[in-house]
Parts: sequence; structure tokens; C-alpha cells
Amino acid sequence: MTRDRIREYEAFCVRHGGWAVDLVEALVRNESPTTDKVAVDRCGDELAGWLGDLGAHVTRLPQDGAGDHLLAELGDGPVQILLLGHFDTVWPVGQLVRMPLQRQGHRLFGPGVFDMKGGIAIGMLAARALFEVGAPLAGRLSMLWTSDEETGSGTSQQAILAHAERSDAVLVLEPSGPGGAAKTSRKGCGQFELSVTGISAHAGIEPEHGASAVHELARQIVSLEALQDAEAGVTINVGQIQGGSRANVVAEEARAMVDVRVRTAADATRVQKAFAGLACEDPRTEMRMTGGFRPPLERSAAVLRLYEVAKRVAADLGRELTEFSTGGGSDGNLTSSRGIPTLDGLGAVGDGAHALHEQIDTSALPWRAAMLAGLIARLVEK
Ligand SMILES: [Zn+2]
Repeated sequence: MTRDRIREYEAFCVRHGGWAVDLVEALVRNESPTTDKVAVDRCGDELAGWLGDLGAHVTRLPQDGAGDHLLAELGDGPVQILLLGHFDTVWPVGQLVRMPLQRQGHRLFGPGVFDMKGGIAIGMLAARALFEVGAPLAGRLSMLWTSDEETGSGTSQQAILAHAERSDAVLVLEPSGPGGAAKTSRKGCGQFELSVTGISAHAGIEPEHGASAVHELARQIVSLEALQDAEAGVTINVGQIQGGSRANVVAEEARAMVDVRVRTAADATRVQKAFAGLACEDPRTEMRMTGGFRPPLERSAAVLRLYEVAKRVAADLGRELTEFSTGGGSDGNLTSSRGIPTLDGLGAVGDGAHALHEQIDTSALPWRAAMLAGLIARLVEK
């Protein structure tokens, strides 16, 4: 893949940059909170139309409890590259009133523009470049756009792994890091619930007959905090607690919602072992810990190989691609933890994911798409 061809991709993406912005806007107008199937499916219908216009073979993966996922396939050849992303957002229907879709110079504001409808448009503009500039890509390009990433990918996980395992590389179009950086590592995220059962009693008349679930939970929270390791990047946050019924009743039930972040799979295992070893101080109480981890995306040799190729393509475009590490997770955690080469954060340049000032830089869409196209073409060549 010559540098000239990559420059041709860029010229194409600049010419069709307006098409990509129109696509982002069409997707944002169809608000798509994960938990509202009717709304997410409406957005999926819109997206399926645009994918069909690309000439892609589009398959709907129907779901009962979530929006349908969309698989789009283009081209053929021995090498397959998977573009991965999601069209659900964290914003409820009606958010457009508070966060109207609006352009201010190069900036486009609106719910879901950055996380990650802008990334979907970049992936699709890159696909157009690969099949409309010169000889079409001599490989298979699959795009899997899912509907439930923001709630942990419960219904899409199986399809993601199935298509990733058939692919030589997975490129994730999640928002980029500062200045457009690729994401070469993401922490693993654990979601756990710790519930304690005690024995209720009158707090004034016979407190000695009671065993307080609230008091036991409080002791356990102190033990959880002690498992943190700031240097290793292991954080444990008890973000929510519930328990008891009244001040004068020794509490029978209490529970805590716990968020854990780790950099390595080894730390995830260590934390889970420590959780399993926790014991109640008051033997009359019982506790139960449920939950699990989305594994970390580790900065492995496979990740770095993809990053190096992307960096060279960016250099051919006169850009510098940097790398970034984040505490937030994505579906890239899932694919890379299975040993499938994964590069994340290839989506839009912008700011304010999950925040009211969410925005993208539309002037960066063409070079992001050209970089992605060049990266795919170089991977298919190898
Ligand atoms: Zn996202």
C-alpha cells in the first residue's frame, strides 16, 4: 500500500466529509438509549439504510431484550478485518431538547456524537474509500454495530466474540483519547454486589439477640478499601449502599454496589480471590459477593503491532498518532482478552463522552477515516 494511495484515500474522504457529517446527524436525530428497544431499533433502521447504500451485505441480529445488532459485510479475500462499535447511547429520548444537534464552526454537538456515532461514520467513510478508490480492497471488511455496549454488552457479547475470532484484527471505533490518540490499554472493570444478611431485633429491648447486617457491611467496606493498590492501578469504589429499615431496628439486610478497576488480568484474579476470602466478623451474619469482570485490554505485543502500523499510516498523512491508556472499558477489552489483535480509540476526535458538552471535531473526520482505510489496507496486504 503506497503512500500515494493513502493520500488518495484522504482526498476521497475530504470530498465526502459532508456525507459523513450527514450520517452522524441522521444517527443522532434517532436517539438511542440502550434500554429503549423501540428507539434503538429506529436508529438501527436508519443505520441499516446507510449500510445498504454502501453496497454492504447487511444482516440484522434480532434481540428480544435489546435493540437488534447490525452486521455489514463487504469484499472478499483470505484476510478479514472487523470494525466494532455501538449505536446505543447513555442519553434518554428527549435529550436532544437539552443538547440540541448543532454545528459551531468545526464542532458538532449532540447526544452520542462522540460516543460513538461519529466513530460509526468514520468507519463507514473508510469503507467507502476502500471500495471506491482504485482497485477494491482484496479482503473482507466486516462491521459489527451493536445496541447494548453502554450496559455491558450482555446480548452482543456472543456475536462480538464469534465475529472477532474469525478476524485477523479488530479495530474499535470508540472515541479517541486526547488529540486523537489511539487507546492501547484499558482497565478491566468489575461490577460486584456485596449483600449481607443479619438477624433483626429491637435495638432498645434486646439488641443482643440481633446481628446487624449494616454494621457488618460497614466492616466489610473497610476491608474492601484495603485491597486497593494505587500504584498498580487497582481501585475499588463502593458507589452505593442500601440497608436496614429503621434506626431502632437491628438491620437484617444490607448491600453494597462495588466498582473495581484493574490494569491486568492477574490483578483481576487476585482481587476476585481476595473477595472470595472475605469472612464475616460477626459469625451470626452471612455475606454473598456476586458479579464479575470485563477483562482489561492490556498493552500487549499484538496491540502495539497494530498501533505501530496505524502510526506509520498517520505519518504518511502528515499526522502524529499518539497512544492513550484509560480506566474506562469497551468491547475491545473483550476481544483483546481472547488474544485477538485489537486497537481501540480509532473513532472521532472530540470531547465530553457521557457529558452535556459532548462534541466532535468534524474537520478531523476525513483524516481519521483515511488513516483507518490505510490501516485496513496495510493489514490486508500482510
Ligand atoms: Zn462507547
